Amino acid sequence: MRIIIFGPPGAGKGTQANLISEEFNIPHLSTGEIFRSAIKNETPLGKEVKAILDAGDLVPDEKVVGLVKEELKDDKYNGGYILDGFPRTVPQAKAFDDLLDEKGKTLDAFLQLEVPEQELIDRILSRGEGRSDDSPEKVKNRLSVYHKETEPVLKYYKKQDVVKTIDGVGSIKEIFNRIKDTLNSK
Ligand code: ADP
Repeated sequence: MRIIIFGPPGAGKGTQANLISEEFNIPHLSTGEIFRSAIKNETPLGKEVKAILDAGDLVPDEKVVGLVKEELKDDKYNGGYILDGFPRTVPQAKAFDDLLDEKGKTLDAFLQLEVPEQELIDRILSRGEGRSDDSPEKVKNRLSVYHKETEPVLKYYKKQDVVKTIDGVGSIKEIFNRIKDTLNSK
């Protein structure tokens, strides 16, 4: 199964992607996690993207697309995967579509987690993960980047009849049950 989990910052994509990964036995590929780990380990990639992540801006498309393409070459993704944080712009979505086409594969589901804006802000500011992009100013920028660059990705996939909208308000378990019901009824 090939799945994209989509939603604004603070929607719970990472949390739900981890649960889906376990339940359906598919690897979880999070571009944000790749970048954070590169920054932590002070790798060349980390040095390149640190200021961008700190500001809550987006890493350039070519960089992200190249990285995801390389990563997906690993055999562990042959049986499917869940993408979290990618594609985040329409050019990334197009590049990903091309990649699937080349491999003769299709996307099984695009899970859109829907959460009201005020709840997103409250969640991020109270989660205390110590992320350098979780301050009120950075969160404001991430949400504005989301609306401008990332929301159009939803429209893009709506044309493909793969979008499943999930109510992202409730307990982690409630939301996960909604996702499971949706994926199992496919
Ligand atoms: P969140 O959804 O809470 O903002 P992520 O872990 O998905 O968290 O992303 C954190 C940061 O990593 C983003 O603000 C951005 O700077 C960078 N990033 C992650 N994925 C992408 C992507 N696909 N394209 C561009 N930048 C990305």
